Amino acid sequence: MSARAGVVYLVGAGPGDPGLMTARALELIAGADAIFYDRLIPPGALGGVRSDAELVYVGKQPGVPSVPQEEIGERLIVAARAGRSVVRLKGGDPFVFGRGGEEGEALREAGVEFEVVPGVTAGVAATAYAGIPVTHRDDASAVAFVTGHEDPEKEESALDWEALARFPGTLVFYMGVKRLEQNAASLIAAGRDPEEPAAAIERGTWPGQRTVSATLGTIAEAVAREAVKAPALIVVGEVARRREQLAWLERRPLHGRRVVVTRARAQASGLAATLRGLGAEVVELPAIRIEPRIESPEVRDAVANLGEYSLVCLTSPNGVRLLFEALREGGRDARALAGATVAAIGPGTARALAEGGIVADVVPERFVAEALVEALAEVEVGGRRVLVARAAEARDVLPDALRGRGAEVDVLALYETVREQPGEEDVEAAQSADYVTFTSSSTVTNLTEALGDRFPTGARIVSIGPITSETARAAGLEVAIEAERHDVDGLLEALLADATA
Ligand code: SAH
Repeated sequence: MSARAGVVYLVGAGPGDPGLMTARALELIAGADAIFYDRLIPPGALGGVRSDAELVYVGKQPGVPSVPQEEIGERLIVAARAGRSVVRLKGGDPFVFGRGGEEGEALREAGVEFEVVPGVTAGVAATAYAGIPVTHRDDASAVAFVTGHEDPEKEESALDWEALARFPGTLVFYMGVKRLEQNAASLIAAGRDPEEPAAAIERGTWPGQRTVSATLGTIAEAVAREAVKAPALIVVGEVARRREQLAWLERRPLHGRRVVVTRARAQASGLAATLRGLGAEVVELPAIRIEPRIESPEVRDAVANLGEYSLVCLTSPNGVRLLFEALREGGRDARALAGATVAAIGPGTARALAEGGIVADVVPERFVAEALVEALAEVEVGGRRVLVARAAEARDVLPDALRGRGAEVDVLALYETVREQPGEEDVEAAQSADYVTFTSSSTVTNLTEALGDRFPTGARIVSIGPITSETARAAGLEVAIEAERHDVDGLLEALLADATA
């Protein structure tokens, strides 16, 4: 069930990794009229919002004036009473040090209906990503979530240090960096063993998560030395030692590597997700954007007369998707290609065709125009009509070769790739990249022109194939790695081989 009108949803967004958001959270974010969100929510968490949804930032940042808690409650009430569906999105779990309880109370008092959607709390997520099980049959039969930073207006510490010192299990301190020295001293003074293993976990589940291991007696010094900053958790307990065996995050093949993805945003997600899954920190610098041209008279004509072509060549998945879209808009479907031989430049393009119900007749082994020309050697084209459907500014290798064999070739521009200016923060992050990946000549040209002398010079350039490499060299770049298979999987393979060599 989606978001109901007049209801406030107190939703946990998880600790930072977008993959740890719950299905329910994503569903409500996609359905809500208004979303009030905090600072520490995962990147892209609001990617699925409705285009007409109201987004209100109510985060608290140390040292910066923020919306007071009462006012947040007040605004939630006003929005709900206006009959809107409201999501109150918070980091981690809303009821674990998230003031979700207070907000729920204010809503109840005002007679506003609410629901709570739990989130993965940092105490179990950051620890799991650090390879620290918060309980363990041999080490810890209980776990306590403790606040390390109490209300500064309280005169005396409400924490019972004697009880915490005696607690038979793991202690996980939230908000524990600032007062770490005092807190560790209080625990030791109350009788907890200073030799007990401890760890500080910074930015758990975010790119660049960092764990500092020490003992209760030395953790404050270690955290100061390593300049660990919030958000961070402090773990005290025998289980912290298990990390020696169980650390897994740092073992992923691209851990600690920063990789720039230059594809158009609409296409980048697959590559970016795979890279992230391998442990890389991905910076997206989309150099181009796909601008469909399927409204043009040429495309309409071609779609209406598709039956006249004996061969139809497609040179990118984008082209395929747009051709199907143009067909749909023309009131037609895949049957319009029934009489034609269909050629795809590579497996990605063939896959896109298959999604539309068409099995390509010709797919070359290597994914460049020259290879497609070769693969088409067996196909009779002399005196026949051929359609090459592609980007506006592609190379003419294929149409020229087919014309040379006597075909009557129409080149159909289904889309244009236009320059996209990457965001300033991303350009900054890219400066220390280990790799910059290029999946086409147009991304090379557009990115080098967009960045000028801010192109990250220290990064190794990974190219999808010879044409892209050539463009890169012509732009003054040194190509460190060229994929053997000229598709995205081939590029990933080549990058992985280099990173793990
Ligand atoms: N409701 C949140 C906690 C909010 S209190 C939850 O359930 O996780 C904020 C504190 O949570 C931070 O000071 C820090 O101690 C901890 N925290 C939140 N996100 C974290 C993360 N990604 N890594 C480590 N600690 C985190």
